[in-house]
Amino acid sequence: MFSMLTIDCRDVESIKSELVVYVSDQVAAIPTLKNHAFMLSSLDDQIIDKDVVITSIKEFLGSIGEGNNFAVISNNDVISIKSIYGKIIERDSLPNSDMFSCTHCGFLTRYEVELQNHMKLHYL
Ligand SMILES: [Zn+2]
Repeated sequence: MFSMLTIDCRDVESIKSELVVYVSDQVAAIPTLKNHAFMLSSLDDQIIDKDVVITSIKEFLGSIGEGNNFAVISNNDVISIKSIYGKIIERDSLPNSDMFSCTHCGFLTRYEVELQNHMKLHYL
């Protein structure tokens, strides 16, 4: 029985902030963000139901289509989300690969023509 849990997010770093919101909402706990992890503290020293936390993590992974790629492992007061096949979710880095960015201000676009038009603004 725990009033504080640590959720290890090493393998799902890019979805950590969304996961924190979802899980803390389900269990009515106060989240604290850490490097590669977040912690849940109960309100008024109540016990956090670990099963509910695990279930909501699995629900969230399922909702983004990653339910079969990650295992949720609990060990005392630590819950780890482990990649089963070595896959790591890198949502944030994906769109950038086929985008053009302005070297002056960081403006992002999918179209080279749009970038060229945008660049003209800097030379007015
Ligand atoms: Zn620019």
